[in-house]
Amino acid sequence: MFYKSTRDSSLKISSAEAITKGISDEGGLFVPENIPTISKDEIDSLRGQPYHKRAFAILKKFLTDFTDDELEYCTKIVYNNQNFDTENIIEITNISKNGKVLELWHGKTCAFKDMALQILPYLLVTSAKKLGIDKEIIILVATSGDTGKAALEGFKDVPGTKIMVFYPENGVSPMQKKQMITQEGNNVSVCAIKGNFDDCQNGVKSIFTDDRVKNLLSDHNLQFSSANSINWGRLAPQIVYYISAYVDLLEKGEISDGEEVNIVVPTGNFGNILAAYYAKKMGMPFKKLVCASNSNNILTDFINTGKYNKNRDFHTTISPSMDILISSNLERLLYLISNQNDMQINSIFKNLSETGEYIVDSDVHKKLLEDFYGGYADDDVTKSTIGKIYKEENYIVDTHTAVAITVCREFQEKTGDNAPIIIASTASPYKFCNAVLESVSPGDITDDEFIQIENLHKKTGLKIPESLANLKTKTHIYTDSININEMEDYVLKYFISK
Ligand SMILES: *Cc1c(COP(=O)(O)O)cnc(C)c1O
Repeated sequence: MFYKSTRDSSLKISSAEAITKGISDEGGLFVPENIPTISKDEIDSLRGQPYHKRAFAILKKFLTDFTDDELEYCTKIVYNNQNFDTENIIEITNISKNGKVLELWHGKTCAFKDMALQILPYLLVTSAKKLGIDKEIIILVATSGDTGKAALEGFKDVPGTKIMVFYPENGVSPMQKKQMITQEGNNVSVCAIKGNFDDCQNGVKSIFTDDRVKNLLSDHNLQFSSANSINWGRLAPQIVYYISAYVDLLEKGEISDGEEVNIVVPTGNFGNILAAYYAKKMGMPFKKLVCASNSNNILTDFINTGKYNKNRDFHTTISPSMDILISSNLERLLYLISNQNDMQINSIFKNLSETGEYIVDSDVHKKLLEDFYGGYADDDVTKSTIGKIYKEENYIVDTHTAVAITVCREFQEKTGDNAPIIIASTASPYKFCNAVLESVSPGDITDDEFIQIENLHKKTGLKIPESLANLKTKTHIYTDSININEMEDYVLKYFISK
């Protein structure tokens, strides 16, 4: 199977090339030329299989240029109980109204990003080897908090790679910041940006596509790649857990063969929900994909009206990993539903960069509404959902998951659709401890994050992830903070003059 670019349908490259490049030269994103299918028998055959075998079976459909040995190596070395705190890799907890909370945060950094960022370095290094690339690979990351840490953990000390992470100085939680600036490893670096996530992402994207920078790196035997969800190597592993979760529900007898389920995903860059869309298009019995946003509800408006307008206030919320106004992966969806019309995609994104908005034609909008429902929750409602779920179900969720549960309830009430609904739970409550405590036990709030963690543990009994507790005694290694327009210089100085 070959891959095309959303902005150049005539392109034809292997998955290994798509993964090593990250983004296409003309600025488009790589997509498989067609979507492989999964039959009922194949779904059935995944029963009783460990997660890594399921990952192998599904990734094999997309990464057709990888050998079985290569894929088996990548999946087996990652999806095991050394990297995840549960044998099953993912867990599902039932809540009322047929809610199936899919916990995707049992990896090292306590956010769902680990599901893909643990395997990406292996896919990338394998791809580079297959292509005979002898250049050192530099990973540049823009993060709203969780990607940065998960990418640092994934790439830490991986031979042949170096990683640099940019995060918005005031746009991440104290725990997220602590996780990043204490990162160990010989090939890592972290820097704060005086701007928001979109500034970080735009900065990284423009460095990536700058020919002068690319040539300079090449002269020094270096080459960029991306660990952001624009990289297909991030997207493909995320398809796996939606399918695996469905198989788990079958195994537990909670759904019957072929039964349709809905899925709700707390959404920022549109990567996680796009993976669910791919799974659906492969043939999984997924009905509606519910896109849940916080007050940065640009996707809610887009799904409901067909108009994308980023000329609006940016809100810093208690679910910072969704504080995004430019959802990169939406480009892939638009490409797919506009019948792979690269001209249309080029004109849409030209409009976006020139005017900050675009409108899709009514056909595309109609198709969007067939598969998606959009809703949002502001901070107050989100906190009250955390309190309510804790009180009524004795289950504690983080702020992002609470946004999803809020929109899930709205969806169920508005549509009367009470089919089983998989709720993507994207982070451990301990990662956003302040807001979570404020929702269930405001008296326990203190200035010290680590005391707060203890307090949340005392209140709820939920086990504290070791990786978070251990941060307390770690040294702050990375303290640089720069302006947006200094990013390129910073990158060149670090990798070339050093
Ligand atoms: C990254 C992230 C999201 C948003 O996921 P996208 O793939 O960017 O839509 C939601 N919740 C948490 C906790 C995250 O880290």
